[in-house]
Amino acid sequence: MHFEVVVPEADEEAADAAEIDPMKVAIASGKGGTGKTSVAVALALSAQGSVEFLDCDVEEPNAHFFLKPEIRLCEDISLEVPVVIQERCNYCGKCRDMCRFNAITVFGETIMTFPDMCHSCGGCFLVCPQEALEVGRRLIGTVELGTTGRGIGFVQGRLRIGEAMAPPLIRAVKARSTDSRTVIIDCPPGTSCPAMVAVRDADYCLLVTEPTPFGLHDLKIMTGVLKRLKVSHGVVLNRAGLGDDTLEHWCLDKGIPIHLKIPFSRKIAEAYAKGIPMTEVDKDLRDAFTRLILEIGK
Ligand code: SF4
Ligand code: SF4
Repeated sequence: MHFEVVVPEADEEAADAAEIDPMKVAIASGKGGTGKTSVAVALALSAQGSVEFLDCDVEEPNAHFFLKPEIRLCEDISLEVPVVIQERCNYCGKCRDMCRFNAITVFGETIMTFPDMCHSCGGCFLVCPQEALEVGRRLIGTVELGTTGRGIGFVQGRLRIGEAMAPPLIRAVKARSTDSRTVIIDCPPGTSCPAMVAVRDADYCLLVTEPTPFGLHDLKIMTGVLKRLKVSHGVVLNRAGLGDDTLEHWCLDKGIPIHLKIPFSRKIAEAYAKGIPMTEVDKDLRDAFTRLILEIGK
């Protein structure tokens, strides 16, 4: 099997000894199913020094299948939502007018709140002239903290089933990051708010994609967003060789580096199905990821 890596060859001893600057690397993709988490896990397992893995794909966190962390702490994460103190309310409607999310309604002498629609902006508390709102809480999910057998710090968010507010939970995951030299952030797929919150303060973003028209379409959107966020980025091309080279030509034309091409491999697919990281089944690939993280850490 041949893995093409378009980074300078690194001396192996130097690679072992190399200390890279502290950095946060976000692993993102314009759509699901590209192998984003597999790449994030491979990168974490290939990094030198202290490493931390943040699973911010909170709707479907699955990096733990591969990294198998021992979870030592589980925290509930909740949002502050208004609860009406009925005897103080004069039904003036100021809270309703303030709420752009329609999470409060007032009609006649009835006031109702809809906690699932509340974005916890706090506006209604500020405008209520009667101090008729008190703070309640809505559980949005959990954050789990642990360590893998290889000493990788591990934090993952798990969104409550039916909950739509992923961004605050992703912020909670990121807030629990320590001062590890290398922080790997497994982002939610797509270009919606959760993905933006996950990628926002990264030093570098690796976009995992496939050489297909869908892959190119989503890559174009994602690179546009990252440009606006001013996050440097490059590409990992997964299942290389399955499609054509249109995506590669586009990257070349736009000056976007393709750091690594991972060909489709039955061995990798079978390992994935068993929860085994790709770097565990192919040494060439492990070396390629080691060089990759050194390259983007420069
Ligand atoms: S906290 Fe903000 S979003 Fe929630 S009900 Fe009040 S105004 Fe609406
Ligand atoms: S702003 Fe306060 S007093 Fe007015 S309707 Fe809302 S809760 Fe009641």
